[in-house]
Amino acid sequence: MALNTLLEALTQTLGPGAVLTGSEVRSRSAGWISREPIEAAAILRPRDTAEVSRILQFCHAAGQPVVAHGGLTGLVDGSHAHANEIALSLELMNRIEDLDESGLTMTVQAGAVLQAIQQKAESAGLLFPLDLGARGSAMIGGLISTNAGGNRVIRYGMTRNLVLGLEAVLADGTVVSSLYPVIKNNSGYDLKQLFIGSEGTLGIVTRAILRLVPQPRSQNTAFLAVNEFAHLPLLLRELSAGLGGTLSAFEVMWNEFYRLVTTPPARQSPVLPQTFPYYVIADALGSDQKPEQERFEAVLMAAVDKGLAADCVVALSASERAAIWAMRDDVDQFHQFRPWFGFDVSMPIRHMETYVTEVRAQLNAEFPGNVCFVFGHMGDGNLHLNVHVGGGDPEARHAVEEILYSRLQSRQGAVSAEHGIGLEKRAYLPLCRTPEEMNLMRTLKRAMDPKGILNPGKVLA
Ligand SMILES: Cc1cc2nc3c(=O)[nH]c(=O)nc-3n(C[C@H](O)[C@H](O)[C@H](O)COP(=O)(O)OP(=O)(O)OC[C@H]3O[C@@H](n4cnc5c(N)ncnc54)[C@H](O)[C@@H]3O)c2cc1C
Repeated sequence: MALNTLLEALTQTLGPGAVLTGSEVRSRSAGWISREPIEAAAILRPRDTAEVSRILQFCHAAGQPVVAHGGLTGLVDGSHAHANEIALSLELMNRIEDLDESGLTMTVQAGAVLQAIQQKAESAGLLFPLDLGARGSAMIGGLISTNAGGNRVIRYGMTRNLVLGLEAVLADGTVVSSLYPVIKNNSGYDLKQLFIGSEGTLGIVTRAILRLVPQPRSQNTAFLAVNEFAHLPLLLRELSAGLGGTLSAFEVMWNEFYRLVTTPPARQSPVLPQTFPYYVIADALGSDQKPEQERFEAVLMAAVDKGLAADCVVALSASERAAIWAMRDDVDQFHQFRPWFGFDVSMPIRHMETYVTEVRAQLNAEFPGNVCFVFGHMGDGNLHLNVHVGGGDPEARHAVEEILYSRLQSRQGAVSAEHGIGLEKRAYLPLCRTPEEMNLMRTLKRAMDPKGILNPGKVLA
């Protein structure tokens, strides 16, 4: 069926407002990084699972490629839709359907925005622990499809750990409902895991049952300066052990990143002098503010006494806490260095120092005057490196990718810690997956999407 005929049939089926074409598509930006107009032939906006199923039945019959769109905050070119592809946006499926306060679950449609989910949980004295800088735009379907990590993984795990049940629509329109609201369900294969982290290549996520926890009654946040890399893992251990399981974030910034986010035009002022090589945000969530604050301060004091931290500031109010986190969240400052290449690698902490040193040395040799910002969720073994080498041509990107990725295999590292593979990292996936794993991934893709219509070319060629 020709694309135009298919779009006419879909317009008739879905009704007005559900099928956007022409300037209604082009006037939308393709994402946080590219900011180019969306290229897709059309954007379809279903209102419920039945409509998603209907769309996929049509597209499957026509062999029409479909690319799922959530909040378009993904960072690996995972939602790029070519001019001959249809984008399926979950934006109208944004309902929070149920909040079970005794079972500690929330049932949501895939287009619900993370911040709305967090606020709904909070209104009931509960917490949905997933949190990241794109919280105001990222949708739960996108977060699930990328198995997003974020700021609290050391305490609560990645998105995978926070999804109890899932509903997804397969390439041929079949609705697979695994909407189970309990932690324990070992009845056969855990099918929801197929859709978590598979970036819209195996099915379209339409609804989810999320796991909540009671809202913490205390929060303590500190900003620390550290003089030596070797002190960072020791400091992490000291805080983990001393805070009795309440440590929920351990974010590290290398000096260049800290200076970037505390120097105008960035809005935040330096919390500590800009002269230290490393900075850490430590955050603890607990149940009783006064004794926990005392313990928090005592543990920090001990870390300073042991020389693990050179300086330390504790947030004494919500606004001081917000100011500390605002530095970490101000990744918009990278746009001062357009074009930049973003990396999201993981490796055991013990390899990080030599990794960063070697990467910087080779960048300096090949691209004098480059800028390399390093920061990340170090407690999760996750480093982000954002590199600016002047030009943004494919050759420069490839050379920088080689510098960063060629050093991972020997360190048991991965090319993606949390952002996923998309188009951007596809060529490098075999660096961190065995041939047998790659074959099994291809077998799954063929079995679940034999015509290859779901997000073609992403993750696997
Ligand atoms: C400022 C900023 C900070 C960020 N911080 C973090 C961080 O700390 N940790 C982290 O992990 N990520 C982070 N990200 C990346 C991004 O927020 C996540 O990847 C997020 O999960 C994407 O959600 P989205 O709704 O925007 O998805 P999109 O970008 O729209 O899509 C992402 C992928 O999921 C697919 N997809 C979307 N919806 C569905 C669906 N319903 N069914 C099937 N497939 C679907 C798309 O096709 C695409 O492949 C950050 C991004 C920004 C801009």
